[in-house]
Amino acid sequence: MAEANARYYAARDPLGAAGDFVTAPEISQMFGELAGLWLTDLWLRAGQPMGAHYVELGPGRGTLAADALRAMAPHGLAPGIHLVEGSPALRRVQQAALPGATFHEDLASVPEEGPLLLVANEFLDALPIRPLVRTEAGWRERMVGLDPQGRFAFIAGARPMDAAVPADQATALPGTILETCPAAAAVVQEIAGRLARQGGAALLIDYGYANSRTGSTLQAVHRHRKVAVFATPGEADLTAHVDFATLAQIARAQGARWLGTAEQGAWLRAMGLDQRATALSTRYPERSGELASAVERLAGPEQMGVLFKVMGLAAPGWPAAAGF
Ligand code: SAH
Repeated sequence: MAEANARYYAARDPLGAAGDFVTAPEISQMFGELAGLWLTDLWLRAGQPMGAHYVELGPGRGTLAADALRAMAPHGLAPGIHLVEGSPALRRVQQAALPGATFHEDLASVPEEGPLLLVANEFLDALPIRPLVRTEAGWRERMVGLDPQGRFAFIAGARPMDAAVPADQATALPGTILETCPAAAAVVQEIAGRLARQGGAALLIDYGYANSRTGSTLQAVHRHRKVAVFATPGEADLTAHVDFATLAQIARAQGARWLGTAEQGAWLRAMGLDQRATALSTRYPERSGELASAVERLAGPEQMGVLFKVMGLAAPGWPAAAGF
């Protein structure tokens, strides 16, 4: 999954109607604006600490960052911009959208002093999962092998993995799948540790579940359609749902404050999505149809409103947040 996604993202901009999938910030400017206002509100109530950094993981086209930073500016918040991006193709797009940005391969080189105002939208779902499968003989890693025709196929590894599984899953039925994501766990561990040391707040947005569950959520998307996960490795976007319950536990263990995990629709509405849409429609009446449809796509329960979750984290001394 890591190799396939690295190859997939390295060479292309997959976003938008002409690409493979559409993300929330590409649907409407309101998404990035509300993310930016959420961070601004916390920063203001934390006493406007100096030297804040805006950090975004996997910024895509830079649209969310541009909208968030524009929303921050009138409040006197103009942080340095740090983008963690692996793809050379997307870095070029981001550079054009955010001329002052500094690029990073991972969080390690992001400044170690000054509060972090961090956002990651549809980033964690692209990180490689490590799925486990219950066999008759106990839990095993679910690995990729070859079938008799030489095609990729799922196989159960030889090594017992029972120790990696929570006690309540020990006797799960054969065939049960449990997805773990050590890469997402490591990223959230680093974010939380830095929030505890440096101050700041983070907004992690992705499709996923607020309570841990079993079952496979691995999927491949190509040109807005689901395709078989092994069909075209490196040519389709591979994602898995994010286990926010586990990530919240990890964040707390590092000393960060877990502010909550909300459904995207409820969070956006609590942050003033409808009011923002009304304000924009009044100013640009010709856009009112487009704005109403954006509200529905972002917050509608059948669309992104329920499947997508928003998790907020902050430094221990920072205030409680809006939206949760
Ligand atoms: N946040 C954007 C883009 C989401 S697509 C939006 O909402 O529109 C996933 C993004 O994460 C892309 O920018 C991709 O290049 C980046 N990405 C995926 N895996 C990565 C990794 N391991 N390291 C750094 N960036 C990664």
